[in-house]
Amino acid sequence: MKASLIDEVAKCNRCGFCLAACPVYQATGVETKAPRGRNSLARSLMKKDFTWPSSPETRESLFQCLGCRACVEACFPAVATDEIVASARSDYYREFGETWLQRYLFRRLLPDPQRLSAAIKKAFLLKSSANLLRALSFLPWLNRNLLKAVDLLPPLPAHTLRERWPDLVRGKMGKGKKIAYFGGCAFNFVLPDIGQSTMYLLLKDGNQVFWPEHGCCGLPAYGHGDFEGARIMARKNIKLFQDLGVEAVVTECASCSSFLKKYPDLLSSEAAFIGPAKSFNSRVLDISEFLSAKDISFQRNDLPVKVTFHDPCHLNRFQKIKSQPRELLKKMPGVDFVEMPEADWCCGGGAGLNLSNYDLSMKILQRKMDNVQKSKAKTLVTSCPGCYLQLRHGANKNKLAVEVRYLTEFFAGAAQAPSRE
Ligand code: SF4
Ligand code: SF4
Repeated sequence: MKASLIDEVAKCNRCGFCLAACPVYQATGVETKAPRGRNSLARSLMKKDFTWPSSPETRESLFQCLGCRACVEACFPAVATDEIVASARSDYYREFGETWLQRYLFRRLLPDPQRLSAAIKKAFLLKSSANLLRALSFLPWLNRNLLKAVDLLPPLPAHTLRERWPDLVRGKMGKGKKIAYFGGCAFNFVLPDIGQSTMYLLLKDGNQVFWPEHGCCGLPAYGHGDFEGARIMARKNIKLFQDLGVEAVVTECASCSSFLKKYPDLLSSEAAFIGPAKSFNSRVLDISEFLSAKDISFQRNDLPVKVTFHDPCHLNRFQKIKSQPRELLKKMPGVDFVEMPEADWCCGGGAGLNLSNYDLSMKILQRKMDNVQKSKAKTLVTSCPGCYLQLRHGANKNKLAVEVRYLTEFFAGAAQAPSRE
């Protein structure tokens, strides 16, 4: 356990105010899966009250956490349960070892864009997401129920976003202020149409856009407890972006923007990176922040429509970005914005719970879908690829007459740049 978290765990007074806020506890009613129970387990492990048990209960307590931070918001001393859980996961792997696949994924594949791209292109040969999951399901690290999650993933695109925008890969596009695009892995490989919408908005705003060939932001490794893997990716990204001389580093992925902003904290013990990490951090902007500071309007010819917004946890709780996407939506002519109940309740996809425990994740998602229906909205907008895929799956499963759209995709709408598929 990180030394700084030992005091954090001690702050938990076992009051239980967090129980009503925890989506996993609310779906299961199991104390060891509540924030209080997870902190209690961490405290026992730290005090060495018992040695590491490899029981299913311990694993579930550590790994069935969405990392949504709802508990932190509900807790008077603001105990950072999500950080405590990530640190305990790290200890767990130190005790029981990581699989070769985890090491390969977090240390070799995700930090290296060329290697990652080559691997994904091979996976594309499998033609569909279902075939890909079938091919992976023999791996012990992945849950045996993985195939239940097949419908979560869209069909694999014929071309990645980078292949569609070779000019950007070579250097830059557009004229105006120099900004960089941090296009997360999800947009490059799985959702290139959405990445293309973002690119269109950045260029329409009058910017010179750079997109260096970067790797993963590091969040998947961090959430999994591989802190060194996350640091490797942070160091590489800081070095890559620091020489571009850009005013801003913009991303449409709430998970990426939240983690890129964490780099100063992540590298706080490395003297050589303290300054560069702070300088990098000061330029990172989520697309909602970037667009809300602009006098930019979005026109679409297929409105009016009743719209609601789902708050991604990494946008709302990790970055306190809540009003910006709503204000942008409300500014759009023809948008009738309605607030849904519990808009900031996690959709159930946090930390990949939908892949590791599909049934539990769907139970949490159902509450979200019921609230979407209560809002009577016809369009559900969000701004995190994980939430987007999960919400789309929920809407299809429930046969809701609701269109799920990504924020930038909704803004770009019919005026979007032509596809280069
Ligand atoms: S985590 Fe916070 S809210 Fe939950 S039991 Fe501990 S002190 Fe109370
Ligand atoms: S981070 Fe979310 S899922 Fe994890 S304990 Fe806190 S409220 Fe529960």
